[in-house]
Amino acid sequence: MRLVAGNWKMNLLPNEAVALLTALREGLSKRDARRAQVLICPPFPYLTMALDLLNGLPGVGVGAQQCHHAASGAFTGEVSAAMLAALGCSHVLVGHSERRTLFGETDEVVRRKVDAALAAGLKPIVCVGEHLEVREGGRHIDNVVHQLEAALGHLTEMQMEGCTVAYEPVWAIGTGRTATAQQAAEMHAALHACITRHWPNLQSPPPILYGGSCTPANAAELFAQPHVNGGLIGGASLKAPDFLSIVNAAE
Ligand code: PEP
Repeated sequence: MRLVAGNWKMNLLPNEAVALLTALREGLSKRDARRAQVLICPPFPYLTMALDLLNGLPGVGVGAQQCHHAASGAFTGEVSAAMLAALGCSHVLVGHSERRTLFGETDEVVRRKVDAALAAGLKPIVCVGEHLEVREGGRHIDNVVHQLEAALGHLTEMQMEGCTVAYEPVWAIGTGRTATAQQAAEMHAALHACITRHWPNLQSPPPILYGGSCTPANAAELFAQPHVNGGLIGGASLKAPDFLSIVNAAE
């Protein structure tokens, strides 16, 4: 089953978040939940509100946009994976390119956050993706496969089955410039091949989502590519009709 996850990033005031969640609740209650899984990742202060307002909708979960890698302690301003799990979150984004670029998250930090998420019973959505100059230099496949290996290479098959991968070319995030279906297909095939090489006995391989300026206009074509198992949606997740239309494209 495909997964469509909305990453609100640091957007919306509380009244706007309630309005969006209410519209999503209305739209998502009308669909056949057996056809695609939906995840909403709002900012931390809105997690409880999202859990309450989306409560009981089949196939709809709430996730966080990041967590700290330590279990607890003196980390002012940070949030642990165990706190998120205890609230009722099912997933957490790890290694989003904005975290890597703006907050200095290295491959090592991403790996530790994956471990923290799994230890707390959360499903990490591990984001990988190349910068434009890497693609232009023809090194995008190696670069992205390396990011996946660095974040997940140490996991057992059972742990790997609790993970999701999101391929997000950095040059496509929030730019309106999306990967072509062919570019997405090429990378997803490479990631799938890497996963089956490292973990040959997986019962259910981690879904691989595409993210980067995914909109109602391009979602269906992207989701139709082999090994594209859904999407991670930024800007378009802030408008209920757009997000619902992308969910519909996944169904
Ligand atoms: C993202 O930030 O994960 C993302 C995919 O953003 P956008 O859809 O706005 O490109």
